[in-house]
This record gives sequence, structure tokens and C-alpha cells, in this order.
Amino acid sequence: MRRFARMRCDRTVAAVTSDMVAKRMKKQTWAVPALQRFALLTVLVTLAGCAEPVVKRYEFDDQLMRREMIEHVKAVIAKSHADEERLWAVASPILREGVPLCGEAVGVSLGWRLHGLGDYKGSSVQIEAVAEYYGGAAFNTYRPMVKFTVPGGPAEKAGIKAGDIVVKVGDYTMLKGPTAVNAFYREAPKIDLKGKDSIRIVVERNEREISFDVALELQCDFPLIVQISPEQNAFADGRHIVFTTGMLRDASDYHLAIIFGHELAHNAMLHIQKTEENLDMAIVAGTVIDIALLVVGVDTNRGATRYLMDQARNYKSVEFENEADYIGMYFLARAGYEFHDAASLWRFMATHNPDSIYAVSTHPPTPERALALRRTAREIQDLIDRGEEIMPKLPDDWVGPVREKNPES
Ligand SMILES: [Zn+2]
Repeated sequence: MRRFARMRCDRTVAAVTSDMVAKRMKKQTWAVPALQRFALLTVLVTLAGCAEPVVKRYEFDDQLMRREMIEHVKAVIAKSHADEERLWAVASPILREGVPLCGEAVGVSLGWRLHGLGDYKGSSVQIEAVAEYYGGAAFNTYRPMVKFTVPGGPAEKAGIKAGDIVVKVGDYTMLKGPTAVNAFYREAPKIDLKGKDSIRIVVERNEREISFDVALELQCDFPLIVQISPEQNAFADGRHIVFTTGMLRDASDYHLAIIFGHELAHNAMLHIQKTEENLDMAIVAGTVIDIALLVVGVDTNRGATRYLMDQARNYKSVEFENEADYIGMYFLARAGYEFHDAASLWRFMATHNPDSIYAVSTHPPTPERALALRRTAREIQDLIDRGEEIMPKLPDDWVGPVREKNPES
């Protein structure tokens, strides 16, 4: 407390005097030297008058401080590694079993995440911490390493382990160097998989090369990203699905799965693209109106465009949320998750944001969402009872996302 009070004291005095000097300098240049001396004197006198702590602050040598900094960064790495691994474990069955709902946005997944030292940016302390945490001379020489395997995924089933150095994938030989992992993901789509149901992977473990045949499995191609933020949030951007560390901190694995299904549904049902199309239309229409008004002498300052863009951003957003809840339940049930209790998510969300129980703006109120999820759960249970496939009711002409393959999978 003392330290804080003193720091504030320093800042205030310095700010007041320099401001005063600056103002006076503009008016009377002849008085500058005298004023500067006066300002300096004021600062010194006031600092001397500031209260100080009675206990002395420890001093540590630079090397000891650096060592402790590295240990702190390693703790951060351990936490984000655990977060990422947990989210992939929760999401993978949903991505795998959801393929029929992802249109053309599907790709081969080996159920692993690769990384190399070159993927990390930061200060020398941060890079040293990364190298130490993941360890081994191989990682230090920028060779691609298995960061983790997804439980039940093809790589894990074949016997590949976190920490394995990847040497070859099919006929592709891994590069060595800071861009090796990026180069692999760029080249991966060109690897010849025609007519194959598995791929030969060579890894280096304990300085020995081992080969594995890894099954080729399809999954929805929307990579996951963990964003470091205390805010509780998850969102889809049309290509990725992003979860904040705040959301991972608060939500159980089960609730993460429900939220993941919902976000995946936003991407699969093209909600982001549809909103962008509406925004483009709003910009065109708004610009026409603004120009027309300008011609007759009314400068709207792009007011019509901004108004229409606001409308477009929120147009049908409640309906999009409902649709994502509905399709998300199908993703959840297809993956084998328990789905009858999914409505509990909305009570959990309400405990973090009680306003969401009543407010109706861009999202449906949480009680309505809970009731709708229960209704969908009954619909899915009926399909299971009748021995039918767990697929939602979609228009006959529905095709889902159409796009080129995502190079990040
Ligand atoms: Zn949503």
C-alpha cells in the first residue's frame, strides 16, 4: 500500500510541474531557465515530503531474476498447453462424428497437433522457457514435434506419443528449421492419399526411428483456437472456433462440449457468411442513400450506411442463435455425448450473467434456450428410438459449407 501511495505521489507532482512549465514556456520564453529550476526544486521538495516504507526492498542479481522469470513463463506454457489439449479432447468426437453436417468443410485428421520452436515468438526469456518446457535437443534444433495427440484419435491409437519428433508423413519428409511445421501444413494437402485408408508415419523417439500406420479419418475442418482472456467467451468466425481461457476456467468439459457444438453449428450453417452478405448489402444501400441525400444538400456523414450496417449486424441474430442451439444439439448427440441434460448449460450461463435471463436483444433469453434444448433432446431421442440416423431436419437443397480445403487441419 505504501509503495502504491508513493508512486502516485511522484507521478502527480511530475505531471503538474511539467504541465505548468509547458504552459509558461509558450507565453514567456525568457523565463524558461528560472522556471525549470523552480520546477525541479518543487519536485525534489515534494518527493522528500512523500511518505516511505520502513522495510527495504530486496535486491537480486540479474541471473537469479531471469531464472525465476523463465519458471514463470513455463507455468504459463503448462497452463495453455493443458487448456488446448483439453479443448481438443472435448471437441474431437464432435468434429469427427459431425462430418455429414459440415458439407465440403471436411479434411483428413490424424488426431495430433504438431509444433516446433519456430512457431513461438517472443523475448529471449520466453523462447528459452518454451525450449526448456518441451525439452530435448531435437526441439531446440527446430524439428517438428508432436505437441499432443487427441484421445481416441488415429495417431494415439497407432501408438504415436507427445514429444515424438516427426521425420516423415507418407512420402513427405519433414524439413528442419523455423518454418518446418508451417511448410508441412502447406504441403500436406498434396500428399497422395488416393485409395488409402492409412498413412505411414516415421517418428524419432529416444534417438531411434519408429514407423506407424495411422488410419485416415475425416473430420469437420474448423480448427480450434484458445485465446488468453479472462472474459468468458466462445465464438465462431466462419473458419475457426475460438474459446477464451476465461471460458475454459469456468465451464465443465460437458458444458464446453455443448458450447463447442453450438459454435460449430454457426460455422456449418454459414451464419457468419450470411451476416457478412447482409453487411455488404447494407453498405451498398446505405452509400446510395447517403450520396442521394448529399446531392440534395444533406450531409448525413455516412449516417444511413452506419444505421443500415448496425441493422444488418443484428438482423436475424436471435434466429441464428436458435438455429445454432438446435444444430449444436445434433452435433453433441452424434458424438455420443449425453444430450438430455444439455439445457443445464443455460442455467450455468445465467449464474454468470443474470441479465441474460430476461434481456432480449441479439440472443434469445436463457430460459427460452433451455426449453428449446429440451424440446430438441426429445426430438433426437425419438430418432434414436425409431432406429434412425441422428440428423436434423434440413431443407432438401441444403449443401452446407462449400469451400477449398483448410490448410491448418
Ligand atoms: Zn451463438
